[in-house]
Amino acid sequence: MKNKIIAGNWKMNKTRAEAAALIEELLPLVADTPNTVIICVPFTDLDTALSLTAGSNIRVGAQNCHWKESGAYTGEIAPSMLKEMGVEYVVIGHSERRTYFGETDATVLARTKAALAAGLRPIVCIGETLAERQSGRMEEVLTRQVQEGFKDVTPDELKNIVVAYEPVWAIGTGVTATDEQANDAIKFVRGVFADKFGGKAAEELYIQYGGSMNDANAAGLLSMSDVDGGLIGGASLVAKKFAAIVHAHE
Ligand code: PEP
Repeated sequence: MKNKIIAGNWKMNKTRAEAAALIEELLPLVADTPNTVIICVPFTDLDTALSLTAGSNIRVGAQNCHWKESGAYTGEIAPSMLKEMGVEYVVIGHSERRTYFGETDATVLARTKAALAAGLRPIVCIGETLAERQSGRMEEVLTRQVQEGFKDVTPDELKNIVVAYEPVWAIGTGVTATDEQANDAIKFVRGVFADKFGGKAAEELYIQYGGSMNDANAAGLLSMSDVDGGLIGGASLVAKKFAAIVHAHE
């Protein structure tokens, strides 16, 4: 089994002072893990996160980037701006962005390609809603999200991508997918990637589970054969909880 990639998605939380306090508490708690640890922080916390984690095993990510290099796109951030700061990862296509900010498979693809071109590693989120799952459309939706959202991605580019399978009904709801539900869905997604990119590339691809993962359920989820890590929202805002998830499967 691969080592896990455990990423925290802070969403729109933490001022600079709060970010510094959280990171300083977290650093010693995760220093000795073999797993990859990433914190995806608000743009305004990137500088703080990068300087406090310099020389440590914590990697820093942003939560979005635009697909253009520059121009009249008020409020947006270009991938090269993140890269220049020293940011390594960027979350793309989170369900909250799909729901509240009009993100589509096409814009997910555009952002992913631009992030890759700038040398960032995208963490690309996919996942079905409760209605889609209950109406038996989960596989159709996940297939479309992979086929459309990764349409122009090359096999070489895929090596620099992490995928997060996040069932929308489990995000921020306290309802977690069972270990088997998470594993089965990720296995299915891996099969779609195998059809598109070949079996070896799909095997090597990191696919995380995200959706109310916490210090109590992480060990079970992360022990499943196809779950290569976690994308963690709420629980990543508490250092001890996030550290427990980081150490849950080593
Ligand atoms: C997320 O933001 O990607 C997420 C999974 O949130 P939560 O862990 O709070 O459900």
